[in-house]
Amino acid sequence: ASSLKKRKIAVLGSRSVGKSSLVKQFIENHFVDQYYPTIESTFAKSVVYKGVEYDCHIIDTAGQASLCFTARRILLKCCRIHGYVLVYSIASRNSFKMVQIVYDKIVDFCGVSDIPCVIVGSKCDLSQSSRQVDPSEGEKLAKENKCAWVETSAKDGTNVSKVFELCLQEIEKRTAPSQAE
Ligand code: GDP
Repeated sequence: ASSLKKRKIAVLGSRSVGKSSLVKQFIENHFVDQYYPTIESTFAKSVVYKGVEYDCHIIDTAGQASLCFTARRILLKCCRIHGYVLVYSIASRNSFKMVQIVYDKIVDFCGVSDIPCVIVGSKCDLSQSSRQVDPSEGEKLAKENKCAWVETSAKDGTNVSKVFELCLQEIEKRTAPSQAE
């Protein structure tokens, strides 16, 4: 049997919350300080979590259309997504509100009660004066939806690999041993 377990992870969130920067930092270990509207891309990286090697396929979604429309299209395109990374910026209240909306859309679309998901508060390097969402609010939202939660900075690298470890953790929690391959 193949030792590599394939895990498909979709990264979703409002425009310019830093989805591409997060994925870029994770895959290529660098940060680009310019904004280029992204095209949708999938990146592969093997991640060792609890001694097991996972072949992760990370889908960096591009939100040219509305975020819910993007979420729906991704679900239609990739019927088997294992885990979700829902990103908001700690400096955008609106992007935070979108997380619950997208979460509900995915759950509704998949017809399940919850999904393997990490809620990510991005850009935590920004100054306290730019902050619009308190860590406690992020934690609370995650708890209510049975998700993991973390604050990250793609700029200085804070908690970037943690996001994908938490996502694997959420996926593995819900994966029955019979489906583990
Ligand atoms: P996307 O549309 O969600 O993929 O967002 P991008 O990754 O393109 O980032 C949008 C803007 O936010 C860019 O100007 C980035 O340089 C900036 N950005 C992304 N991540 C961070 C971060 O961790 N800290 C700071 N300060 N800025 C960031």
